[in-house]
Amino acid sequence: MNLDEFSLRTLCAGLRERTFSSEELTQAYLQRIEQHNARLGCFITVDPERSLSQARAADARLARGEGGPLTGIPVAHKDIFCAEGWLTTCGSRMLSNFVSPYDAHVIQCFNEAGAVILGKTNMDEFAMGSSNETSFYGPVHNPWQPAHVPGGSSGGSAAAVAARLAPLATATDTGGSIRQPAAFCGISGIKPTYGRVSRYGMIAFASSLDQGGLMAPSAADLAWGLGTLVGFDERDATSVARPAEDFNAPLDSSLEGLRIGLPRQYFGAGVDPEVARALEEALRVYESRGARLVEVDLPHSDLSVPVYYVLAPAEASSNLSRYDGVRYGWRAQQYGDLNEMIARSRAEGFGAEVKRRILIGAYVLSQGYYDAYYLQAQRVRRLIQQDFLQAFEQCDVLMGPTTPSTAFRFGDKGSDPVQMYLSDIFTIGVNLAGLPGMSIPAGFDGQGLPVGLQLIGPHFSEARLLAIAHGYQQATDWHARVPGQGEKA
Ligand code: GLN
Repeated sequence: MNLDEFSLRTLCAGLRERTFSSEELTQAYLQRIEQHNARLGCFITVDPERSLSQARAADARLARGEGGPLTGIPVAHKDIFCAEGWLTTCGSRMLSNFVSPYDAHVIQCFNEAGAVILGKTNMDEFAMGSSNETSFYGPVHNPWQPAHVPGGSSGGSAAAVAARLAPLATATDTGGSIRQPAAFCGISGIKPTYGRVSRYGMIAFASSLDQGGLMAPSAADLAWGLGTLVGFDERDATSVARPAEDFNAPLDSSLEGLRIGLPRQYFGAGVDPEVARALEEALRVYESRGARLVEVDLPHSDLSVPVYYVLAPAEASSNLSRYDGVRYGWRAQQYGDLNEMIARSRAEGFGAEVKRRILIGAYVLSQGYYDAYYLQAQRVRRLIQQDFLQAFEQCDVLMGPTTPSTAFRFGDKGSDPVQMYLSDIFTIGVNLAGLPGMSIPAGFDGQGLPVGLQLIGPHFSEARLLAIAHGYQQATDWHARVPGQGEKA
């Protein structure tokens, strides 16, 4: 079985036609993980017995002629999703002993669909980071160039899909953590509209921004999986009820007359010339398929990084106050009284970046500073959202770079948090506005590192975004490239 060349559609057909069983498919992926995980660091937990027993159950279901598009398909899950009976760490020492007693909504959806949990993927601690360097479990290496980061925070899921250790992976995006690592690893990723995917059981970072989504080689694969994930869930107060949608049907719709908005602010100085060149070529592909380019303005986009780095830490400081060593998670061994137990457990359990965010968050929410920072940031957030809505009066989709550069080297930005934060400059606005966004592969730089093209649509336009991405992928083969085939892995 050649795992390099497949689509979810063909895997599903192979399972239905009994070309291979889910057990065989799962075994093939587990073998591949065993071969490559020590080098890449994609997975925190694999549990072959558990995965194979799910696979056998899927085979039984398929033998009865039952099941849907994902029955028997192995899926890697970011270790931010609680999965019953699985160690669920969120990349932190704080949860390094936490075996979840329940399933997140996302995990439940996949389980009910008959998908197989292939393992739990590495990530920046509590999803805070852009390089996967903050994980308690060590870094993930970019499969294209191991001295380079895979991006973050969903670096494990992205590298696993890129190296074809999984055909599909879940991930989350608070400020770019699906799109940025997808770009750095040369795969496709979708962050749905805020509220489309329930956050129940998804470990909270910044609740007004967090959104679960998917990573896979192609947009067609994402469309194949997305229907399983979206839908109303009463356990998440921000879950949105929408009529059921088939994301596969509109994939082949024409790009003729499509109006592509190019935000002036996304094409200026600060974008690596090689990234800019790849993007220009991608836009030419769209033009050749009948799309029109329109320049648009997002006047407040330079404020998205400062606004995010007030709001996200504020929400994080509140969300992470639950980790106190009392009920679950890391507890210090030595302490005098209760206060000291809590203080020491938090001091030992959290890493430096998480502590930095908690401190910033507590500061901007404190009496006397709340109005100046937190409230002000909320006001600017609204302006950023309005910029997008105005831009969508002139175009159907926005396009630009996912990131200013391709994957940087380990250590390049780790010592300077502000440099790291600036690598999210093109992704954060989407979260502040609650919009759906994608990143798809659009070529390579001179070092053989992938370039990501970002697509941003109006609220609830996932089906259209997937079709627009698919149109490009029918004319190009960047999404089909696999590290190690001609390139150095
Ligand atoms: N890199 C951003 C941060 O560090 C976004 C992370 C995310 O989307 N989870 O907060």
